Amino acid sequence: MLNVVIFGAPGSGKGTQSARIVEKYGLNHISTGDVLRAEIKNGTELGKTAKGYIDNGQLIPDALMIDILAGVFDGFKDGKGVIFDGFPRTIAQADALKAMLKERGQEVSVMLDLEVPEDELMTRLIKRGQETGRADDNEETIKKRLVVYHSQTAPLIDWYKNDGTYRHINGLGTMDGIFADICEAIDKL
Ligand code: ATP
Ligand code: MG
Repeated sequence: MLNVVIFGAPGSGKGTQSARIVEKYGLNHISTGDVLRAEIKNGTELGKTAKGYIDNGQLIPDALMIDILAGVFDGFKDGKGVIFDGFPRTIAQADALKAMLKERGQEVSVMLDLEVPEDELMTRLIKRGQETGRADDNEETIKKRLVVYHSQTAPLIDWYKNDGTYRHINGLGTMDGIFADICEAIDKL
């Protein structure tokens, strides 16, 4: 099994590169952001809860997010592995993912950290907000999300370095160039 964690700040290109990885390596894809946005669109109770956090640039509570993740994971029938996009975002989530995979006889194969400078993140997200109308892609909420990223999510870089699965990827460049670097990291495994 190839289990890939794609990691990075908001707007770092996790979703874009995940789609390519899925196509090339035949992985199942879990995007926690997409799962939550679908719940919001469908007007579910979970969606209503999630919307409050997302519109405010905050993370959904760990216990709730971990349950959702396990549910989606166990819904996959087969495949060569999974790409985790947007999860884990906290140390508690990384611990939970490790435990969940271990219970199922699996582990994270690699964590790919897409690094992009902050001014570029800001530019990309504001553009995405204008083009797609995504509610949390406005300047005020983006700033909050970046603060949350630095305080709660960035500590996972050291967590995965300790785990021995960390790989740095330069997230600035062409989509093809970045994808080539990702493939090189995966193919070396
Ligand atoms: P990218 O642009 O790189 O795909 P993103 O940060 O813009 O990433 P999503 O991954 O789609 O966006 O997440 C959107 C929002 O959903 C987050 O700001 C957060 O509120 C919520 N969310 C997503 N994943 C998690 C998670 N693992 N834990 C808690 N909240 C989450
Ligand atoms: Mg995304």
